[in-house]
Parts: sequence; structure tokens; C-alpha cells
Amino acid sequence: MSEICFCGEGNLKEIHSLCEIDIVGNIVEINSYYSVCDTCGSETATANQINKNFLEVQEAKKRFIPRGNYCYTRNDDDTVSLCPFWALREDKPHQENGYCSYMRSGDWNSDDLSLLWDQVKECGINTVDWLDEA
Ligand SMILES: [Zn+2]
Repeated sequence: MSEICFCGEGNLKEIHSLCEIDIVGNIVEINSYYSVCDTCGSETATANQINKNFLEVQEAKKRFIPRGNYCYTRNDDDTVSLCPFWALREDKPHQENGYCSYMRSGDWNSDDLSLLWDQVKECGINTVDWLDEA
């Protein structure tokens, strides 16, 4: 399905290309979706493509989220690795100040009991299958 370009002449064709993005200091390749007009050459991204690109980024971020039910994981050498998307917000009250940049959400705007401040996962990513990999 093609859409008409704003130039009024051409049709937009969807293109996707690999693009490199920086996720917490790691260069990761993701698909980037956009449209190019076959007449004037304008590049544009539809709302649908912007959403797809966002989901690509979210998917790529998952590999950096620790396994288990907490925002950290204990390593074999007993050190602890914290989720790179977890943070405490200094401008929020105690026990309301946990923030997850993966979800773009924090304790203070959750309707349910939220324990991000105590490093209890709210994202639900990598919580289920981690037991299989002992
Ligand atoms: Zn055009």
C-alpha cells in the first residue's frame, strides 16, 4: 500500500535500512523504517513507522535488562550488575522515586503498588525463562 506524498506528484514507498543506535553505551543495529517519495525524493516517517521504529529500539534494549524479578543481577563472582535503565529520581519523594527509562515510567505515576525504588522490576522483561538456563 502506498501513500501520496505531500508534493502531490509521487507515491511514498516504504524503505527499511539498518541503522546503528547507542543503547547505554553499546552500538546496536536496528531496522529503521521510513518512506521515500518516488518523485521528489522526500523522506518521511508515518506514525505507523515511528511506532515500529520505537518498538525496534525497545526490543533491542531488552538484551541489557537483567534476568529475574529484580532490576539487578548477582554475578558468579558475587558482584551485582544493575539494570542500565533503572534510576532514582532525586526530585521525587522517598519510596516514590524509582524510575525505569525502558518503560519511561516511575513509582510516582504508577496506579498499582510500585517498588522500582527498591529495584523490583516493573517491566516484566526477562523474568520468565531465566530459570531454564541454569
Ligand atoms: Zn514527493
